[in-house]
Amino acid sequence: MGPPGVGKGTQAERIIEELNIIHLSTGEILRDEIKNQSDVGIKAKQCMSDGKLVPDDVLLDIVRNRISKKDCNHGYLLDGFPRTLPQAEGLKVIMHDIGHKLDAAVSLTADENELIKRLVIRGKDSGRSDDTPEVIRKRQQIYWKQTAPLIDHYKKDGLLKEVDGLGNIPEITKRIMKALI
Ligand code: AMP
Repeated sequence: MGPPGVGKGTQAERIIEELNIIHLSTGEILRDEIKNQSDVGIKAKQCMSDGKLVPDDVLLDIVRNRISKKDCNHGYLLDGFPRTLPQAEGLKVIMHDIGHKLDAAVSLTADENELIKRLVIRGKDSGRSDDTPEVIRKRQQIYWKQTAPLIDHYKKDGLLKEVDGLGNIPEITKRIMKALI
């Protein structure tokens, strides 16, 4: 977890290398669905370009299908999921059904204005249509309203690892690894 721009994707790529596990980014999966013009992609497209969340049932179907595949048996990192309390509850049910266990929930923290600056730069470099200042603000607001409550949720479960997300990339990876092991 972490507000848009905190570096979830960048850190996820590094952590999966360290732990030799699979990286599952729901944002990436949705962007692929849009590219392929699938039914899910068509449903998700408008929400994503408005900076809003895609409905929980769509996400829970995607995640159930993906983590039930054999290649997930040796571990995976969910990047950008869950993002709401119903998604977290749904994940618990799915994992229970297929005999998986959540080991940890990492929350990356950072100053919001710094993140907006970073995202505007990313938008210019990557051409992601949801990295414009207006959509970024919307995504930040949604994070604080809908996703931040998960921090308390995972704290209560004893799974939360809070990590300072400001600093250089390798340093943050080290902090995350230290929190996980
Ligand atoms: P991300 O690449 O994680 O920043 O996700 C980009 C966009 O995909 C988000 O702004 C949402 O519109 C959508 N999305 C990704 N993951 C989720 C999720 N778990 N729940 C709802 N929408 C999601």
